[in-house]
Amino acid sequence: MCGIIGIENNDNAAVLASAGMLTLQHRGEESAGITISGKKKMKTFTAMGLVSKIFNEDILLNKLPGTAAIGHVRYTTSAKSSLTNAQPFQISCIHGNIAVAHNGNITNFLKIKKEVLKKGAIFNHTSDTEILLHLIAMSKGSLVNVIASSMRKLEGAFSLVILTDRTLIGVRDEHGFRPLVLGKIENSYIIASESSAIEIIGGAYIRDIKPGEVIIIEKGQIKKSFLYKTSEKQNTCIFEQVYFSRPDSIMFGKTVKEARIKMGQFLALQMKNIKADIVMPVPDTGYFAALGFARTSKILFENGFVRNHYVGRSFIKPSQNLRDFTARLKLRPIREVVYGKDIILIDDSIVRGTTSKRLINLLKNYGVKKIHFAVSCPPVIGSCYYGIDTPSKEHLIAANNSVEQIRKYLGADSLTFLNLGNLVKACSYVNNKDEDDIFCKSCFTGKYFTKISKTTYKESY
Ligand code: SF4
Repeated sequence: MCGIIGIENNDNAAVLASAGMLTLQHRGEESAGITISGKKKMKTFTAMGLVSKIFNEDILLNKLPGTAAIGHVRYTTSAKSSLTNAQPFQISCIHGNIAVAHNGNITNFLKIKKEVLKKGAIFNHTSDTEILLHLIAMSKGSLVNVIASSMRKLEGAFSLVILTDRTLIGVRDEHGFRPLVLGKIENSYIIASESSAIEIIGGAYIRDIKPGEVIIIEKGQIKKSFLYKTSEKQNTCIFEQVYFSRPDSIMFGKTVKEARIKMGQFLALQMKNIKADIVMPVPDTGYFAALGFARTSKILFENGFVRNHYVGRSFIKPSQNLRDFTARLKLRPIREVVYGKDIILIDDSIVRGTTSKRLINLLKNYGVKKIHFAVSCPPVIGSCYYGIDTPSKEHLIAANNSVEQIRKYLGADSLTFLNLGNLVKACSYVNNKDEDDIFCKSCFTGKYFTKISKTTYKESY
């Protein structure tokens, strides 16, 4: 999970890219970077940590002069977290200076890596993204042909922004796994992971980049856009709407917030026989689903947790005691809201089950009478190979247990998952039609769109 942004034909390119990256910070907190071109020599600045800590006034205004910029925020687990893998990656090759920022996971990375190693390629990073630059550097012809032929060799998930000395390029894989949108601010085009990153800096969202589309931007104009490959069906990650994307981002003609409200409304219909005093979200991603649930069920909506936003990932240490301690610091129930109540508790998903169990236990310690746990997606039974950090199958609680077994493990009085049909309806275009099922749902079905084998690349978590 990462966030990317690119802007061209703008004297404030680095400043606007960093502002967009702040908006995309939820997609990755471990490292951030910006590459600039257009005024002086192409230059990349990367560092570990949050955008606001890395990109101060001095760096943005004095050290990153340029009229075009691409930016990246990266999510990894601590094992893979290093400055070496912070993006954008920049190279100098036969086609000039090229930098790339990537969101996704290239599933045939290991296979292609083997091939290019035989041709003498040297790798400086350990992530799959570098393979793109090798493919581009080893191809001959015009930039357009080089990009298209390189992308055709890749499998899996990749939304990309690529920067050359003169050109900004956006690419989305033919399945459209990860989002990528096009917008405009005055005379500058912007490409970003989410529409909110464009709108927040004063730009206007224009449209989604199509699955399989390459869009080439120079001097404030779209010079060319074309499909490098077509797929029978779009497979955009449905988890983007369940959890990852910002609620104010637009997906399929409506905000993510609206989709989450609908998830809650469908959950309320699935649970119409369950009575409770209040509906409560697990902050923050359970919020809108709980609101939708309350609207449909007419059960009172209450915020029963105080969340401490200052406890970051870096505080999480690899021991159970410290993890429990961190969880207590992060989320505290408000006793007068929950004491003696039957509650419907809404969360976005259950992966390992440990966080939900800890939360339910915490609420019971605060005197909650009954907890009906409702989840705004189906049970996660398969790992993700398309760019989301989910653990392998043996660590997924729903891959190895029935719903009743999970309920018992969590200590909930009842457990309901939103069914897949309702999730698709909640996330589809404004006018729901059957043909609107354009989603990847592989982690809920265990059926994948690309060949998954022992050589399929996935960062090990
Ligand atoms: S497998 Fe799940 S998390 Fe991964 S892209 Fe598909 S829906 Fe999204």
